[in-house]
Amino acid sequence: MNVLLNFSGDYAQSASYEFEISGTTRRVVRWYSEPVHTYSGALLGRLFVFRDATHELALDRTKTEFVSLVAHELGTPLAAIKNAVEMLQDDPSSLLSEDGRQYVQIIAQRVESLEALVKDIIALTRIEAGRIELRRAYHPLSAALNEALNSVRSIIQARKQQLILEIPDNLPALWIDRNRIAQVFTNLLTNASKYTHDGGTLLVRAARVDRAEDLPENSPADVRLPAVLVMVQDTGIGIAPEEQARIFERFYRTEDARKRRIQGSGLGLTIVESFVTLHGGKVWLRSAPLQGSSFFFTLPIVEGQ
Ligand code: ADP
Repeated sequence: MNVLLNFSGDYAQSASYEFEISGTTRRVVRWYSEPVHTYSGALLGRLFVFRDATHELALDRTKTEFVSLVAHELGTPLAAIKNAVEMLQDDPSSLLSEDGRQYVQIIAQRVESLEALVKDIIALTRIEAGRIELRRAYHPLSAALNEALNSVRSIIQARKQQLILEIPDNLPALWIDRNRIAQVFTNLLTNASKYTHDGGTLLVRAARVDRAEDLPENSPADVRLPAVLVMVQDTGIGIAPEEQARIFERFYRTEDARKRRIQGSGLGLTIVESFVTLHGGKVWLRSAPLQGSSFFFTLPIVEGQ
C-alpha cells in the first residue's frame, strides 16, 4: 500500500503493482495507474484501475507446478537411456554395425539435448516460482568458467571452432553461486558455438571495471560498479536489430535460427538473464547479422560479505 501512496504524489508517471488483502480469503489485487490530462495538457488527476488477480495467479502457480513435475519425472527415464547408450558405446565386444554405431551416436546426442532442455525447464520453473536461492561463496571467475568448459569444450571441438580465453590472473574473487554462473557461461558458449559456422572463432574476455566511462559503448545506464565485465563473442550468424530486445524472452527464437534449423528451446538466455540479475549484474549484447554477436554480463565486486 505504501508504494501506492508514495507514488500517487508523482504526477508524471504511470505505474502498476500488486498487493495482497488478507482476511478469511486471501486476495491479490493488481493495479495500474496513469495520469489524465486535458487536450491542452493540463493535469486533471489520476486514473486507477484495480483488478482481482487471485484466480489468474493461482492458475499460473498450478501451471508452473505441473511443468516442474513433468520435467522432474522425465529426468529418471532420460538418465536410464543415457546409461544404456553409454554402455553400448563403451562395449568393445559390441556387435553393432557401422550404421548401428551412428544411430547410437544420434541417440546419445539427442539425449544430451533433451537433458539440457529438462534442466532448463526445471531452472525456469524455479525462477518463476521465486524458489531460486543462491549458494554464494567467494570464487574466482575462472572456477565457474572451467566448470562450463568441461561440458562445452567437446561441442566446440566437434565444430572445429577456435576458443580464445582472455581472463586476467589478477581479477578479484567474486561473491557468486559458482554452479549458476557456470550455467550462464554454458548457455552463452553453447549459443556462441551453435550459431557460428564450423571453423569460426569464440572469444571469452573478462576485465575489472571501476568507472562507468570504462564500460563499452551502449552499455546499460544502471550497471552496478565496481564489477567484473565478461564478454562472450562469436563470429556467427548474428541477430537482426529488431529481434535483439526479444531474445531474452522465454521460448523466443529468431527467425534466422528457426530457418537454419539450429536446435534450441529459447530458454537459455532467459535463464542467463535471471541468474545474472539475481547476482546484481546486467546482461546485454551487441550484434549484427552475419557479423557475429558479443554478449556482455557483469558481476558486481562485493567486498567484506
Ligand atoms: P536457444 O535454445 O534457442 O538457443 P536461447 O534463449 O539461448 O535459446 O536464445 C534465444 C535465441 O537468441 C536463439 O534461438 C537465437 O535465435 C538467438 N541467439 C542466441 N545466442 C545467439 C548467438 N550467439 N548468435 C546468434 N543468435 C543467437
